Amino acid sequence: PAPVLAVQGLVKRFPMRGGRFVNAVNGVSLEIRPGETLGLVGESGCGKSTVGKLIMKLHDPTEGAIVVRGQNIAGLSRRLMKPVRRQIQTIFQDPYGSLNPRMTAGAIVGEPLKIHGIASGRDLTRRVAEVFEKVGLRADQMTRFPHEFSGGQRQRLSIARALIVDPEIIIADEPVSALDVSIQASVINLLIRLQKEMGLSLLFISHDMSVVEHVSHRVAVMYLGRIVEIGPRDMLFSNPQHPYTQALLSAVPVAKPGARRRERIVLKGDVPSPVDPPPGCHFHTRCPIAEDICRQKAPALNTVDGEHRAACHLRAPDAPAARSAA
Ligand code: SF4
Ligand code: MG
Repeated sequence: PAPVLAVQGLVKRFPMRGGRFVNAVNGVSLEIRPGETLGLVGESGCGKSTVGKLIMKLHDPTEGAIVVRGQNIAGLSRRLMKPVRRQIQTIFQDPYGSLNPRMTAGAIVGEPLKIHGIASGRDLTRRVAEVFEKVGLRADQMTRFPHEFSGGQRQRLSIARALIVDPEIIIADEPVSALDVSIQASVINLLIRLQKEMGLSLLFISHDMSVVEHVSHRVAVMYLGRIVEIGPRDMLFSNPQHPYTQALLSAVPVAKPGARRRERIVLKGDVPSPVDPPPGCHFHTRCPIAEDICRQKAPALNTVDGEHRAACHLRAPDAPAARSAA
């Protein structure tokens, strides 16, 4: 089936004083299919949140296309964007900051119905009550204020607010990172259930490999503004190809009994500044297996197996290392 959302060659450079730029997103292409969860994972500063904000049109891309149901929204005006915006809803990390403290929970959740002219009056109240129950809140909590809810309940409110306009796409940026570990699982499982029940397409942005593994059908790994590996969840987690993905996974504690412990790969140095990303493969300054070509040429996302692709010269199908290993 055609993707619900496709991002093509997305670039975002933020200008700084002195004529230099933060290269936040450096040529990202991905698609989200109907009813699928795509996990977008990487360390802070890798550009994953910027990708989400570009899709939400909170920033304009420097280059590239954002295609929603066949329409490129990258250059759309605010007015033309409004019906599209209904289709793409967001859940942010911080449910405290995104809920107006002076509005009742019911008014907050029902507000998008007013903004989009979908419902008012009793019809609106009925729809708010319905979505409260859908996210595991009680309809009689509609008259309470945000501070009367726990952190997990507040995130349920922001999920309800996103769902009430019946969107096709949800962008969830670190939706559980601000929550207690003890309640993260219940919010994650709620998202998974709603995603299935409503056939939502979900872009799940997170730095947490185990959470991403739990929720995603496919996973894209970002490093310094680029996707370095992408593929079906099980393929990527059981057979990571990019040295960066391998290092990230090696740091994840193995929870399943009997599962083989991965040898911990500790990367040298820090993530370089996105103002001056290293030439060639952005990862070469930290890569344990870098060779000369890595400093000269950026690797393409090469097919590993089916839809599993990795951007590494030494993992390319015709690479010397891949040949000798075969
Ligand atoms: Fe490492 Fe080179 Fe592969 Fe980049 S292209 S990940 S530097 S081996
Ligand atoms: Mg972020």
